[in-house]
Amino acid sequence: MRGTIRLKTGDITKEPACAIVNAANSSLMGGGGVDGAIHRAGGPKILEETKKIRETRYPDGLPTGEAIATTAGNLPAKYVIHTVGPIYRLCDGSCPDLLAAAYRNSLRVAYDLGCRDIVFPAISTGIYGYPKEEAARIAKSTVEAFIQKHPMDVTFIFHNPQDMALFQKATEENH
Ligand code: ADP
Repeated sequence: MRGTIRLKTGDITKEPACAIVNAANSSLMGGGGVDGAIHRAGGPKILEETKKIRETRYPDGLPTGEAIATTAGNLPAKYVIHTVGPIYRLCDGSCPDLLAAAYRNSLRVAYDLGCRDIVFPAISTGIYGYPKEEAARIAKSTVEAFIQKHPMDVTFIFHNPQDMALFQKATEENH
């Protein structure tokens, strides 16, 4: 058993998974896009925890590519894994490695918490401007490599059917 990969459309804040991933920014203080939606729906508990993490482990913010966990407040998930994807116009040659690290470290944090299912948004492809096709190929190959050794059921969730179709097409062309 090597786990599964599945695609769906919807709102990540409604997913009753063990872990959902937040495309956060390094401040961990909330923001727009998925980040804003998670904090709005999850309530103040999540921010309380990320503030503590800033005070203790990451006073300068969470570095790009790293991931940390909080509980999920009022969300139906058990944990929120906060990761920081690269800002495309700033990452140059390191963009692919940083995006892969955001996926891989999120998977590892969730796995180590005992989660065997996880839901990802399309990290960095919104406000952070990562080209969607390229990001899709990195996301899929990084997840595939991880679940070979650590079986998990992984869902990629998209806000709209166009983004899902684009991911599907980009990752099929890869094979
Ligand atoms: P980043 O800052 O890493 O680019 P964003 O939150 O701006 O992250 O966007 C990442 C992706 O998540 C975008 O493709 C966006 O359409 C999608 N998205 C935004 N809100 C939600 C949500 N509630 N559920 C699922 N996906 C979402």
